[in-house]
Amino acid sequence: MKVTEHVKRAKGNTLFSFEIIPPQKGRSIQELYDNIDPLMEFKPPFIDVTTSREEYVYIDKGDGLLDRKLTRMRPGTLGICAALKHKYEVDTVPHVLCGGFTKEETEYLLVDCHYLGIHNVMALRGDAMKQQQYFEPTKGGHTYATELVQQIKDLNKGKYLHDVIETDYKADFCIGVAGYPEKHMEAPSLQSDLKRLKEKVDAGADYVVTQMFFDNKKFFDFVEKARDMGITVPIIPGIKPVAVKRHLQILPQVFKIDLPEELIHEVEKCKNNNEVRQVGIDWCIEQSKELLRAEVPVLHYYSMGKSDNIKDIAKAVF
Ligand code: FAD
Repeated sequence: MKVTEHVKRAKGNTLFSFEIIPPQKGRSIQELYDNIDPLMEFKPPFIDVTTSREEYVYIDKGDGLLDRKLTRMRPGTLGICAALKHKYEVDTVPHVLCGGFTKEETEYLLVDCHYLGIHNVMALRGDAMKQQQYFEPTKGGHTYATELVQQIKDLNKGKYLHDVIETDYKADFCIGVAGYPEKHMEAPSLQSDLKRLKEKVDAGADYVVTQMFFDNKKFFDFVEKARDMGITVPIIPGIKPVAVKRHLQILPQVFKIDLPEELIHEVEKCKNNNEVRQVGIDWCIEQSKELLRAEVPVLHYYSMGKSDNIKDIAKAVF
């Protein structure tokens, strides 16, 4: 079922969902199951599975030289989506990226999704490769998520690339896109980023999931501005508990977000990461309860592959 249908059927009750990251290649899918199992009692109607783009690895040739190879360290998004759908009878949402994929590869991926009965996709541009400072479009790929949304929308009309076939048999994907309460790092302003978000919605996006934030006011302001701009689709808050002291540096660095002074203060007071984990859980519970009172459609948690703290939060909230 589509994410938007789940939201509609919930009739104003906030749903629980979460995002997982595929394991590094060479690791067992059982590790993933072990982290998902404890969360299934909260009945997530859908689970998101991220996609990682290719990266360079350097192989020591033994003669003082390094061989540079291109590889994906966390492949398997679609396989995991199919496996979870089968094992837990839950809808899964693969993340589809512009970066690292040609339009043709994207089409094949979408065809596979369609065959597997996967009705939702999250359409994202993706970040720059690790070794690059700025995002560079892949040759033959899309530059912005809006173009990817358009390609998916075309498939929903039975329109394939290069018009090689004509068919009345259409895909029917529900399309999610990313939104940034604290603006995307490359956007010159929040307002201009919101205009870009409106373009994605106008191109056919059915719902928005936000980047993580730790201050609900930023989310509420963002939703208000989005509504003022005419964005009417569901906006789902994505949140994450702080879990280790290093998150005070890593989260702002990677996601270009601010942490509230009070949270920073509480984390800095902690003597070890067990204490930080508890501070993160308590903060996230308070955040979740306030978002719940605001009747958000879904509370979507970034699990980052660990479920113990998400379980504690879900137990207190749902
Ligand atoms: P876009 O919507 O294309 O926007 C990118 C930037 O370009 C923005 O600054 C926007 O304002 C600007 N822009 C858009 N259109 C135009 C235009 N026409 N002209 C000029 N500027 C324009 N990354 C992954 O690699 N894998 C994942 O699985 C993944 N999942 C995510 C899930 C969520 C919920 C979120 C919020 C992010 C996720 N990301 C993921 C990160 C995401 O790929 C990055 O934030 C990326 O830098 C931007 O992607 P986007 O889809 O928002 O890009």
